[in-house]
Amino acid sequence: MKISKRFSFDASHQLVGHEGKCANLHGHTYQLEVCLNGQIKQEQGSDQGMVYDFGHLKSLVQAEILSHFDHAVILQGNEPIASLVETKRAVLGFRTTAENMSLYMAYLIQKGLADGVELEYVRLWETGSSYAEAESADLLGVNLGTFDAVRFYD
Ligand SMILES: [Zn+2]
Repeated sequence: MKISKRFSFDASHQLVGHEGKCANLHGHTYQLEVCLNGQIKQEQGSDQGMVYDFGHLKSLVQAEILSHFDHAVILQGNEPIASLVETKRAVLGFRTTAENMSLYMAYLIQKGLADGVELEYVRLWETGSSYAEAESADLLGVNLGTFDAVRFYD
């Protein structure tokens, strides 16, 4: 069965070359929805009756994503301001679209999950009406070296 949890973070970005207002530096209150798939644990213990402890999911997302992205400037690296930002920033090396970022976040979460539970999807809401959704299968064709090259300056 599936469980999901929603998170929120504030960040700014800019899409160089976009033929619209996203070409300007601007911000979003992103919503991140993480859905996991697994069996309900029957064994006695702290997580008996659960697919995955929501507290563990919160800790994972906090450590891997929110700590780096919340109140950060998200950069591809080609923005005119890129070399000027000395505050908290995430330098992705790829275009900072909701699609690319959801895929990257799916990678981070999948990597940190314990055995016995799988990532169903990550939805990254850029606005109240727009999201990109990445599933584990979407990671199959990705060059993960690109993701491992991401740098955070917290
Ligand atoms: Zn935007």
